Amino acid sequence: MILMRFTNLTRGAGIGSNCYRLDLPEGSVILDAGMHPERVGHDATPMFEELEPGRIRSTILTHAHQDHVGCLPLLQIQQHGMPVLMTPGTARIAEVMLHNSVNVMTRQQEELKLKDNPLYGHKTIEQAQRSWRYCPLERPLDLDGQRSSSDSDSTTVTFHDAGHILGSAGVMIRSEGKSFFYTGDVNFEDQTIQTGASFPEEPVDVLLMETTRGDAPLPEGFTRLKEEERFAKAVAAALQEGASITIPVFALGKTQEVMAMLWKMQRERIIPPTPLYVGGLSSKITAVYDSMSAQVPRNLPNLSLMRDVSPYVAGGRDIESLNPRKRAIYALSSGMMTEHTLSNIFARKVLPDSSQYLYFVGYADPKSPAGEVRKAVQGSTVQLTSEGAPVSFNCHREIFTFSAHARREDLLSYAIKVRPKTILLVHGDDPAIEWFKRELYAALPGTKVLAPPPGQAIEL
Ligand SMILES: [Zn+2]
Ligand SMILES: [Zn+2]
Repeated sequence: MILMRFTNLTRGAGIGSNCYRLDLPEGSVILDAGMHPERVGHDATPMFEELEPGRIRSTILTHAHQDHVGCLPLLQIQQHGMPVLMTPGTARIAEVMLHNSVNVMTRQQEELKLKDNPLYGHKTIEQAQRSWRYCPLERPLDLDGQRSSSDSDSTTVTFHDAGHILGSAGVMIRSEGKSFFYTGDVNFEDQTIQTGASFPEEPVDVLLMETTRGDAPLPEGFTRLKEEERFAKAVAAALQEGASITIPVFALGKTQEVMAMLWKMQRERIIPPTPLYVGGLSSKITAVYDSMSAQVPRNLPNLSLMRDVSPYVAGGRDIESLNPRKRAIYALSSGMMTEHTLSNIFARKVLPDSSQYLYFVGYADPKSPAGEVRKAVQGSTVQLTSEGAPVSFNCHREIFTFSAHARREDLLSYAIKVRPKTILLVHGDDPAIEWFKRELYAALPGTKVLAPPPGQAIEL
């Protein structure tokens, strides 16, 4: 009998369509069902073709970012009636993200004429939601998401707050005396709204761990608080000149963190009251943050972002017609300035203008438009769209580090604390995974450290 078998179903590995299969004596479980944010159609999906229809016992979601939830409806069509376990916060956000994903896929379909797009529709999401199970933190559940009476259930699932975004969780799976812990995306440190992770610290047999920032050393003496001060000073200086500031952000997580930082700056009178513009998806997600503030672990629980920051909500057309010269802050998604998004459209006006300020606050793929602008030399040109003319880059640019992912040293010390027999490294580029491999070999010589290749089953 196989006690535990793991298969990475992420197509092409790296950070993309995150999805993992765990075979247990009680049945097979899928962990996350993401969509690759920069690919389209079949290429953006996990390797669901490896799964037998109707044979998966349960799916467990760690959080509602697109790279973890985007293909869930597809999996649910294939595995009809399968329960999907997630926290209530993840469920609320997943609903918004998936409906938005249908709109994005429909637009791609019009432009690219793909055969297999959209991969699912609004109706599919509504049907899929009937099988979603809302799971509390810190309570052992069975594979149906019901409270476990541990003696009768051979497998238990427990969610632990991951401190990454609203609803995010790591998940402990215990089966036949073996323990398996999946970090999901995690942050151990407090952000402005999000409180740091609260993970179990007892020894574990297998640790499945994200490695996003393995290749991102921080400068000597870096603290989030100091970075917040540097950001506040930069925002104040630009506004004092009467300039406007554009901040490309992800609609989920980073937008709410930036809104809370700006609220603090205004309250502490570091900046004057300033109009703030956000996009439609960002405002919907922010409303979920507000409505759940009493039910989730977070800082500033009484801060209602939509009420107290009261941003202007801008659509694509508004962004085309807005004049960035007036003193204002534009926190527009996406964080990578992906083509067709608000931040990409707006950047075409901001980039050539030497009186404008552009502040980056999070991760961007080096090959994305935001990645290109981050490394561009002032006075050169940048290609923001695949077909349009390059845009000259004259505006002010500043880069700040407010990651929602754990710093690599924190992940390393967590792994050392729980002393796993096996560590599986995922959710990172090659150099990030290599750094963790080296450090873990040195710190835990008895531990097997693997970067599981896609599609290959590993007996644990
Ligand atoms: Zn995430
Ligand atoms: Zn992720």
